[in-house]
Amino acid sequence: MHGLRASTVVLLIAVTAFLAPAPSIPAVAGPADPEPVSLVTLSVPDAAAMERLVASGADLTERVRPQADGSVRVDAVLTPSQLAALPEGVTRAAGQAPRAAREATTATQQDQVVVERAVWFKSRDGYFLSVEASSSAAQAATLTVTWQGRRGTTGRAEMIAYVDAGAYLGHQFSTPVPAADQPQRITVTSTGGGKADARVKEWPDGERPDHTGRGYQKDFVTQYMPPAQLNERIKALHRQFPKLTDLIALPYRTNGYRRHAQALIGTPPGAAVVITSAAYGSEGGNDLSVELVTPGTPNQPLRVTVNGKLITVSLATDGSGAAVSTAAQVVAAVNAVPGIPVRASLYRTDPGAGVMAPAPAVQLDDFLNAPADVSRAPAQVLALRIGERRDGSRTGVLAYSQEHAREWVTPLVTIEAAERLLRNHARDRATRRLLERTDIFIVPTVNPDGANYSFYDFNSQRKNMTNHCPAQQSDPALRNTWGVDVNRNYAVGSLTDGYFGASANCQSGTYAGPGEHSEPESRNVIWLAQKYPNIRFAMNVHSYGGFFMWPPGAYKLDGRVTLPRPTEQELAYFLRSARTIEQAIAAERGTVIWPQQTGPVTDVLYSAAGNSADELWYDYGVYGWDFEVGADLWNPATGTWEGVGFQPPFEEGHAEAMEFASGLISLIGIAADYRER
Ligand SMILES: [Zn+2]
Repeated sequence: MHGLRASTVVLLIAVTAFLAPAPSIPAVAGPADPEPVSLVTLSVPDAAAMERLVASGADLTERVRPQADGSVRVDAVLTPSQLAALPEGVTRAAGQAPRAAREATTATQQDQVVVERAVWFKSRDGYFLSVEASSSAAQAATLTVTWQGRRGTTGRAEMIAYVDAGAYLGHQFSTPVPAADQPQRITVTSTGGGKADARVKEWPDGERPDHTGRGYQKDFVTQYMPPAQLNERIKALHRQFPKLTDLIALPYRTNGYRRHAQALIGTPPGAAVVITSAAYGSEGGNDLSVELVTPGTPNQPLRVTVNGKLITVSLATDGSGAAVSTAAQVVAAVNAVPGIPVRASLYRTDPGAGVMAPAPAVQLDDFLNAPADVSRAPAQVLALRIGERRDGSRTGVLAYSQEHAREWVTPLVTIEAAERLLRNHARDRATRRLLERTDIFIVPTVNPDGANYSFYDFNSQRKNMTNHCPAQQSDPALRNTWGVDVNRNYAVGSLTDGYFGASANCQSGTYAGPGEHSEPESRNVIWLAQKYPNIRFAMNVHSYGGFFMWPPGAYKLDGRVTLPRPTEQELAYFLRSARTIEQAIAAERGTVIWPQQTGPVTDVLYSAAGNSADELWYDYGVYGWDFEVGADLWNPATGTWEGVGFQPPFEEGHAEAMEFASGLISLIGIAADYRER
């Protein structure tokens, strides 16, 4: 089932090897080397297990699929140790979806079945049926759908109960089911005796996208781009279209693609010391060396000397001349030297009672592999403002991508949209109308430091580069776990407010940071909403899984209390707009975003405490949407949907960028028609 995904991982390595100079990988992994990671599918039986999984620091992707037995499957990025120590109940998913437990329902009363939505869609792979229904017997009922379609076709498929955080949300198919032809009528039958019929409607069936005139230009992205290239692209667009654009340097510089230099000396756990430079590696830290020597004579004291760039620890000896200094003693001695350019610490939580052996000089290293021309300085995050009238009088649209570093397709979506808008302005009337009526802010990469790390050091980097971990979680082998999840660092529905789906553990994939807005990356996004109050729409571009979502995006686990739901009218507006935008996405290569993955984040995905779309909606009244680009691909040979991963082969990434750029331009069209009510 996941053959494609396994091969995707291999391809990722190939893509990166092509883009980046080969990092210096030691022949044998040592204690200073991070563990490798892999993308695996986990089976999570219930809410309690999901809570344990999040608390364990697991790095979960956005591809989540409810299953027939009430469990969910989620793709996660895990090390072998994490995989060996999965929280109770969580297992690695086997090849096939488990069959529903066929327990006879013993309801004495007939249950009420309601069909919430029954739709068909036609993708490039043919017809599919999606049904959402509910039973008054909730998850106790087993619901089965039968259908009749055009040309006398029929079909039958079982639904699954979707239970999240203990709440029954209704029945649906695990994934849309293939149909031989267009399904027209369905009957949902419950083991509880209930029954309901419905006509099947078309999906997304939104308004057709604006017909773009002959000569409309598109397809401007030719490769995955690291942050420097993304910024060059929008600077070039600004130079070429000065009358239609402004370049905005966002006020909060990032921490920078840089780290303190480190060395792990000795044998962990007991007899090891971590040395960390005070200066960043790029600012002198990488030039420092540390050696442990024995004086060769008996009864010598422990001594630390600094000679230029070399720090020498002369270990204490006993009466026979053997070294006797423990790790804890070496740490104390190093840190006691006034003005020494490093800090020493013990290995993780070990008390350091082991005796240190002499060690030849080892040079400290920040372990950053990007070429020297990749700036190590704090980065300026750039926005390209596009429109004929950029004076606040037009409806503003903010499109921002790559909050999560490894989502390489996402900046291509915003860049492609910017290119299309500007290059077609002079030749295409529909485009000109968009630029007359809207004021567009494009931020291709919110998290450039993390993106550099993803390109040059660690493909699976999700967070930013800033390490808030204490010393016992900061030895070099843990460097791939540091950083803040930018999309959990916002101030509405946050972890500190008691919402679910973010972690206080600095090594977690969803680490919320030491406080709300602690990170420059999140402050920059909010600054735009504050500075330009004409912004009424926002699109937060993520990957992967093929979702289209809006608030609320977080709930409190106890009672599954979500942030306030938008009004019925607002929800209807979100949905109507979504169908139009999904129509535009589908027009590109027949990718249809599933109805069951179109809706409020908490209904269709999970709770994401402290995400940006929620803050934009609840604090600034901005219609805050999220794309998860990279919809599953149908494998006709196996009859299953398969995930695409974060960095698919460029051909696939390019296709995703084309279709979601069309979706983004459709959203700008909705903004162009928007009237304040
Ligand atoms: Zn993401």
